[in-house]
Amino acid sequence: MTDGSADGGDSLDADEHAPEAGTLYDQARWTDDGEYEPLLSEKDATEVAIGEDSPLPDDLTRDSLELPGLAEPELARHYTRLSQMNYGVDSGPFPLGSCTMKYNPKFTEQAAADPNAAVHPDRSAGSVQGTLEVQAQLQDYLGRIGGMDAVTLQPPAGAAGEFTGIRIASAYHEANGEDRSEVIIPDSAHGTNFATAAMAGFDVVELPSAEDGRVDLEALEAAVGDDTAALMLTNPNTLGLFERDIEEIAALVHDAGGLLYYDGANLNALLGRARPGDMGFDVMHYNVHKTFATPHGGGGPGAGPVGVVEELAPFLPTPHVREQPDGSGYERYEPDQSIGKVHGFSGNWLVLVRAWAYIARLGDEGLADASAKAVLNANYLAERIDYEVPYGPFHHEFVASAGDQDAADAAKRMLDYGVHPPTTKWPEIVDEALMTEPTEAETRGSLDDLAAAFNAVSAEDDATLEAAPERTAARRIDQVSAAREPRLSWQALDD
Ligand SMILES: *Cc1c(COP(=O)(O)O)cnc(C)c1O
Repeated sequence: MTDGSADGGDSLDADEHAPEAGTLYDQARWTDDGEYEPLLSEKDATEVAIGEDSPLPDDLTRDSLELPGLAEPELARHYTRLSQMNYGVDSGPFPLGSCTMKYNPKFTEQAAADPNAAVHPDRSAGSVQGTLEVQAQLQDYLGRIGGMDAVTLQPPAGAAGEFTGIRIASAYHEANGEDRSEVIIPDSAHGTNFATAAMAGFDVVELPSAEDGRVDLEALEAAVGDDTAALMLTNPNTLGLFERDIEEIAALVHDAGGLLYYDGANLNALLGRARPGDMGFDVMHYNVHKTFATPHGGGGPGAGPVGVVEELAPFLPTPHVREQPDGSGYERYEPDQSIGKVHGFSGNWLVLVRAWAYIARLGDEGLADASAKAVLNANYLAERIDYEVPYGPFHHEFVASAGDQDAADAAKRMLDYGVHPPTTKWPEIVDEALMTEPTEAETRGSLDDLAAAFNAVSAEDDATLEAAPERTAARRIDQVSAAREPRLSWQALDD
């Protein structure tokens, strides 16, 4: 962030950092010269007497504490200004490819905020039948959407879902007395696929894409064999292309005794139209925080339920939820050959409540409609932008090339036009990739604005791009230091 010149601690003199007069009602700011939104304690510190009648030992109490003595509107404005330093899907379009940043309808927030939704996870099954019923329903919805026979809600993210799914595949082979050491992954796959396979102890076999951006069948045929534990595939793949040969691909892998893993982080193109289970996949994860709304970003929160076919159901994590065989209610139980726990209790529960509400409200037709619009929007936007889009036709997303421009610089410049940039520099098979996914939530007017921003940036010179962003609360941050040496507390700035 800054060079640490900001003076937190004792000082009550916020003036030295305060914005100039006339900019008082602007966004909060954080500049390289140490100007920032004053802390509440810098705006006011009032001695408040406390602890006089405390039952605690004297050495654990204090007599007074400095607290900001501010009026409620001052507080509300402080936090609102800080929130405006951020770009969110409630501020504008967020076409971050592969991440599916869709608008989060407020009814899903209401469902998650319902006091009845937030029950303690350790409560006995008998006292939380409603919660268990919602869990069982969501398992059922997701199973039907993916064409899977059983679903666990436990994994807390897509990557955790992958890890769970690959461990289930591993446990299955082991139970069959087979020692299979390899997981095959196409080069266009999401980075988490490679990390998952490696962390689960497999050797990764990377599969080069064919000319048209799809799986190269000959290369696959050469790669599969007795060592193949699984093929991990995303379909439509990260270029937004449907793997048309999926039945042949499935046959090749199954004939060699391997399993087919579906990376279902992003189901927008398939909802209500096609199901991974019908394509021959045996195990998959869903990113409910992408496909089924739910705010996400900055590392969380998420949920990555995993669906499996019948043969893999005994290996699901524990506890699993099901309707009691006699129909008298719902219960938690441990599947016969469970791989154990991958997260506490039933996972990130309130994220799952949002997904449940989203699916229940949209229903079969609504989901299919969302999918149709997501695909239409991606194709409409791809047509309207000046950047070249080397592969196509696409489904829910497309990958444009920034050509001679640096994709990361172009992305920074888009912020100046008030839009969130697409995913950049990935997948690597497209030069200077701008991976773009407008989602179904954008209107035609909003897509036109988005295209105008892309086109304005595409016509600009390198110097302009390199100086961007100019109109945001924070300018270019040192991304490497931010990732490698994070300072997670305000006090740390003083060091
Ligand atoms: C987002 C994503 C993942 C990982 O999901 P997380 O919830 O971020 O861990 C995996 N695969 C694809 C294709 C994705 O887009």
